[in-house]
Amino acid sequence: MATLVKKFGGSSVATPEKMHGIVDRILREKKPDDRIVLVVSAMGDSTDDLLALAAKVNPEMPKREMDMLLATGEQVSIALLASAFEAKGHPAISFTGAQAGIRTNDKHTKAAIQDVLSHRVDEALNEGKIVIVAGFQGVTDEGAITTLGRGGSDTTAVAVAAGLKADLCEIYTDVDGVYSADPRIVSNAQKMQEITFGEMLELARLGAGVMQPRAVEYGEHNNVAIHVRSTFNDVPGTIIRGEYTVQEKNFVIRGVAHDTNVAKIAVRGVPDHPGVAFTIFSALAEANIDVDMIVQSARVEDNKNDILFTVTKTELVDATAVIEDLKESMNFDKFEVEINVAKVSVVGAGMLGSPGIAAAMFGALAKANINIAVISTSEISISCLIPEKDVTNAVNAIHDYYFPNGKEE
Ligand code: ADP
Ligand code: ASP
Ligand code: MG
Repeated sequence: MATLVKKFGGSSVATPEKMHGIVDRILREKKPDDRIVLVVSAMGDSTDDLLALAAKVNPEMPKREMDMLLATGEQVSIALLASAFEAKGHPAISFTGAQAGIRTNDKHTKAAIQDVLSHRVDEALNEGKIVIVAGFQGVTDEGAITTLGRGGSDTTAVAVAAGLKADLCEIYTDVDGVYSADPRIVSNAQKMQEITFGEMLELARLGAGVMQPRAVEYGEHNNVAIHVRSTFNDVPGTIIRGEYTVQEKNFVIRGVAHDTNVAKIAVRGVPDHPGVAFTIFSALAEANIDVDMIVQSARVEDNKNDILFTVTKTELVDATAVIEDLKESMNFDKFEVEINVAKVSVVGAGMLGSPGIAAAMFGALAKANINIAVISTSEISISCLIPEKDVTNAVNAIHDYYFPNGKEE
């Protein structure tokens, strides 16, 4: 008897026909005593549509109400999919995140799962039902509905799998695995057979949208291997797990990621004394805003500093408000916002022992005549902030350099 958790993303449940396709496949592949949980996203682009609707009503919609609104998207898909199973004669039941026991903190619009109380799902499985859980949503201890950030259904799936100690967690999507770059913009990107949690987390964090970073983290902490594969064919996908099992471990660069959901804020003329960086970044942290790249440069002419950092475009309005509020007390000259930027990154645990990776990346960008505004590094990645218009060229130039003939896997 196996417990299987299968997550289907928005494009996989975009139409009634696609939903029936999923039902047919599940019923065809299911062994009689398999216990099956499906975690589903909102249909097609409906989360984007809800966001657009919110912006028309109130561009600064309270985050609690935003969660109330966005959570409806997933509720539509679970009810329809459960009914599609019933239509084919198989018992099924849908659960919202709250009903499925997904407990989160109260950080509305990007809440983190703290615990999964699986008993209700477990009972329904024991009754022989296929259980359909709404991805992307949870509930606080006070009963408020929360959402988990864009792409959060991935995290729901991994958390449900961990809670049920499932045998398998599969992420079904519109690509047949994790590639060395986004296959939508790099035509010769290569599919990976497997990738470690650490490298996948870094790729995801740096923009590889195929997995939500928190899902990978959750998988790593709870030792849930994740199989990323296609909704539309049976080809084996990519396994995300703790260690490589079949491949050589000598990859230097595992993949190239890019992210256009980036904005740069430059705070100019900050008086140079201890505590200024603390003041800016603690105020941003207080507002629950993630800051990514940070550069401080000293100005010799007037003993002031420029402090530059990046946030997501999604959080730019909130970040700008925080900086605006600090202007008077900090007495800096001005701040500037730039939204036409993007970040390209190379990721690979192998770069630790390989000098010259950064130089090669900068060389590939120079050859493509692309200017770098900010550079940042971690142990297993290097990132460059570039003009947004150059992002496709940049990813291809870097990918061509590291994967010149397309690497067989
Ligand atoms: P879903 O709706 O199923 O969650 P997403 O759109 O969130 O699907 O994720 C799948 C998409 O992720 C792919 O269509 C692809 O364009 C994008 N993607 C970005 N980077 C990668 C990568 N390295 N490998 C595979 N897909 C990637
Ligand atoms: N529907 C949500 C989104 O579009 C969650 C998800 O699809 O994972 O981000
Ligand atoms: Mg997704």
